[in-house]
Amino acid sequence: MDKLSTFYKHMLADLWSRLISLYYQPKNDGEADSPPVIYSILKQTKLVDLTEDKAVVECENSGVKMFLEKKVKDIENKLFTLTQKRIKITFSIIEKKTKKTPPLFSFQSSIENLLANAGLPIKYSFDNFAVSSTNQVAYAAAQAVVANPGKNYNPLFIYGGVGVGKTHLACAIGRKILEQNPKKKVFFCPGDLFINELIESIQEKTTQQFRKKYRRLDVLIVDDIQFIAGKERVQEDFFHTFNSIVSAGGQIILTSDRPPNEISKLEDRLRSRFLGGLTVDIQPPDFELRTAILLIKAREKGIVLDIEAAKIIAEKVDDCRALEGTLLTIYANFFIKEKKEKIDLEVVDSFFSQKEQNNQKKITVNDVLKTICSYYNVKISQIKDQTRISNFVFPRQVVMYVLREHLKLKQEEIARLLKRKDHTTIIHGVEKVRQLILKNPLIKEEIDTILKNLSLST
Ligand code: ADP
Ligand code: MG
Repeated sequence: MDKLSTFYKHMLADLWSRLISLYYQPKNDGEADSPPVIYSILKQTKLVDLTEDKAVVECENSGVKMFLEKKVKDIENKLFTLTQKRIKITFSIIEKKTKKTPPLFSFQSSIENLLANAGLPIKYSFDNFAVSSTNQVAYAAAQAVVANPGKNYNPLFIYGGVGVGKTHLACAIGRKILEQNPKKKVFFCPGDLFINELIESIQEKTTQQFRKKYRRLDVLIVDDIQFIAGKERVQEDFFHTFNSIVSAGGQIILTSDRPPNEISKLEDRLRSRFLGGLTVDIQPPDFELRTAILLIKAREKGIVLDIEAAKIIAEKVDDCRALEGTLLTIYANFFIKEKKEKIDLEVVDSFFSQKEQNNQKKITVNDVLKTICSYYNVKISQIKDQTRISNFVFPRQVVMYVLREHLKLKQEEIARLLKRKDHTTIIHGVEKVRQLILKNPLIKEEIDTILKNLSLST
């Protein structure tokens, strides 16, 4: 496959997964919450072709196809929010390839097969993992585990915020161990998969098989173990799985969005097991690391990216996942549309200034009201009401703040919109929120979420 078609596939996959995530963002608080059906169904589909005005989405079977066809308008609207283009979606059913009969003996399984059997994504390895001050401790711990799996740090518990590279690092360990010794039974398992498989095996009375599969492993990696919180039966089984693997000399690697002592509704005996190995954290990537990651991602996708341009992107975008998304969007906009050969300063500059313009002109007062009201679960009429009930006062002040600071509306104008007689109320409200943001990180997070929702809703 040439570079361009590899890139094209990446781009489609990335766009599609961003669209799917508009339907549901898994919560990070470890509580069980179930995604909407359409989300789960969309996850089984693939965007396989995309032009300026048409998209083809591949479905597993006709049931999925029929379900999605009923929702096509909504999906097209979501696609519009991401691409700013009216694109018509059609659904097709995967053509089943006739199964090739496997060769009688296969002497050597390629690394791809090994990885696939272990559930490890091919894209994550140490070779494409950049190290800087924010992740060097975790990296060193990972290396120590690779050198002596099952011996030193059991479990290795890696925690950190979204997109800091936990999954990447955990997978890289599994891969390296397999490369060193292809006979090792390595298995990578997203936390929710482990839970679902166990629940299924209980329903279908196949727990024996489930146990056999997990308890005989040399290396078990469970990604996002925090999902186990509050699930007693699953914790019980995981406790035994954990013990059998460790006592047989195997290695356990866990990732989580928080350290073991902050996972609520976790049995004490599991918590103490988790803390019994080595717990390391990964901090949000610093500027150098973000630049390095961009350069790595660009190289992998066959995109020519100037280092100066990478630095500008790294300055403006601070989370890893968004880095990759931004890179792909810029590439799609300039390489494919304008036939630029590389991403340089000029391209980046015009991308960000276009984006700025779009942002400014698109968000309306109504968007602000709707987003904030739905966030705080109040009605727009309650915001515009004179009542001083505290449930409405704060959301109202947030509205003032966003209209003033982000839409740059005049105080008088805001007063009129919110039916306040006097614009000093607005000055007071805006100032109050501004102070709270400075003092209280939770409030800051709240406002950031609102602003994010706001830019998604337009
Ligand atoms: P997490 O599991 O912590 O949410 P991921 O491992 O999924 O984060 O990382 C998000 C994205 O950022 C992935 O594409 C990953 O390859 C990339 N990434 C994160 N950290 C690094 C790094 N140090 N070097 C290279 N890529 C990284
Ligand atoms: Mg992850």
